[in-house]
Amino acid sequence: MPQRGNGNNTGYKKPVICIVCGKKWEVACSTPYQSNSPSSGLCDICQVQTVTPVIRRRQLKEGNFDCFGKAVGGFCDQSNCKYLLPCLHLSAVAASCKESSATFCERECKQ
Ligand SMILES: [Zn+2]
Repeated sequence: MPQRGNGNNTGYKKPVICIVCGKKWEVACSTPYQSNSPSSGLCDICQVQTVTPVIRRRQLKEGNFDCFGKAVGGFCDQSNCKYLLPCLHLSAVAASCKESSATFCERECKQ
């Protein structure tokens, strides 16, 4: 009996490992993944931790609040901010993993 996926035979899965914390996950891709070792990437949380300080520095440089990633409940009152969309996305990611966002705050305060 041929092995087919659960009705999803259009794509392949590529294993990805986070270069920071070592978390593993899979992403869909259109070609079979040939290598034995997973591809390197950044997980959501590590992406937040990497991107946030960079954007906040930019916000300050541009004379704005360094509020990036601090949106609560998917809302930020800086509606003209050019970082609003990624900010809301990353804020949601951080909020979805409370344990990691606690670590995140700790790290941030130590800088
Ligand atoms: Zn990670």
